Amino acid sequence: MREIIIAGGGIGGLSAALALARKGRRVRVLEKAAEFGEIGYGIQMGPNVAKMLDRLGILEAIEAHAFFPDALIFADALDNRELTRIAVGKFFRQRYGYRYFVIHRRDLHGEILKACRTHGEIALETSRGLASFEQRGGAVLVRCDDGAEYEGAALIGADGLWSPTRKAVIGDGAPRVAGHFVYRGVVPMEQITDRSRADAMTIWGGPDLHLVQYRLRGGTVMNNVATVVSRRFRRRETDAGTPDELEEIFARTDPHVRDILRYVSRERNWVLHDRDPVTNWTKGCVTLLGDAAHPTLQYLAQGAQMAIEDAVVLAEKVAAAGENLEAAFLSYQSERMNRSARVVLSSRFFGEVLHADSGARELRNEMLRRRSPEDFAEFDWLYKGI
Ligand SMILES: Cc1cc2nc3c(=O)[nH]c(=O)nc-3n(C[C@H](O)[C@H](O)[C@H](O)COP(=O)(O)OP(=O)(O)OC[C@H]3O[C@@H](n4cnc5c(N)ncnc54)[C@H](O)[C@@H]3O)c2cc1C
Repeated sequence: MREIIIAGGGIGGLSAALALARKGRRVRVLEKAAEFGEIGYGIQMGPNVAKMLDRLGILEAIEAHAFFPDALIFADALDNRELTRIAVGKFFRQRYGYRYFVIHRRDLHGEILKACRTHGEIALETSRGLASFEQRGGAVLVRCDDGAEYEGAALIGADGLWSPTRKAVIGDGAPRVAGHFVYRGVVPMEQITDRSRADAMTIWGGPDLHLVQYRLRGGTVMNNVATVVSRRFRRRETDAGTPDELEEIFARTDPHVRDILRYVSRERNWVLHDRDPVTNWTKGCVTLLGDAAHPTLQYLAQGAQMAIEDAVVLAEKVAAAGENLEAAFLSYQSERMNRSARVVLSSRFFGEVLHADSGARELRNEMLRRRSPEDFAEFDWLYKGI
């Protein structure tokens, strides 16, 4: 059987390589960057993805790097009061079968990469950016930026938010700029002065802002993420999302919340994007996966988790369809379409809830105060997984 080519060696692309290889397919990953890698910040992983990592045989290795928060706390950023919590202990585990964990992105990506490296069916190449491809009689010819060419049975575009594969398959232009700006920082625990919620994953929501804090690497460091919905962006001004706007938007928050801003670096920020869900991310023997297919805002913390779920489903469809990869890709797309669309649209909604002000904030707080920490039903669609 001819190999399957994957463009992109992020969390999604490498998970797809591993999932396909475990089903007996030969795979080649073409990564544009000079090295495989991830940025140095945290990422949240729910029980839906733990189940997938278990199926890929790497859960134990990944969990060895993880931190397991005792609760997911939602607090109001204006007064630092806890509004609700999700108790992710015993009952959560019993209901969903797996634990909720947080992990350094490099540890997660590194373990998936390590599993790929030890698999004889996976060829890994760096400095190979996909430039174009052509489908020819049941094969796909991929051309790279440096002129290298590869022929495979199929191509999976796991090449992220700005996916050139998507450009060729769907051609729907640039992703939507949300106008939300993210600042991050990971600092040693010794620097953290208030540790009152240090064993939890805490999220503070406020008008046009939110802040997330959780520990990583055996609890030795704290991951801090501050997000603002830029008012300057809404007014179409050019200096949107700059550090002074971050301070300006956080000025109304509780002193404890403002204090946490010390831990986020002003060196760089990330501008958030997503896309409206589509139904046509497959064309013949070429399909998309992860952010290339359904980029989402991070408000449900599910973008990478959806990419890993995609990888597992894709490999199962390929194994079931044998050489009919077109049928496998269509079946994969149809199985993943609604679930990933629900994540994209719910993330937008959850962002509105997080960033509420005035009457909407009052309503949110009242509703959140009424729920009990073990009211899990609303999360079943997500955390029970696939
Ligand atoms: C602030 C923030 C917080 C987040 N928090 C969470 C969270 O808690 N939980 C969660 O699940 N998700 C979270 N996400 C989302 C998550 O980071 C992404 O959804 C996930 O990383 C997407 O993985 P991917 O492999 O699809 O794409 P990427 O990680 O973007 O990987 C794409 C890869 O393709 C390569 N590439 C690009 N172009 C080419 C080319 N032409 N040829 C070959 N290779 C190419 C890139 O170099 C890269 O290695 C968050 C996102 C943000 C912005």
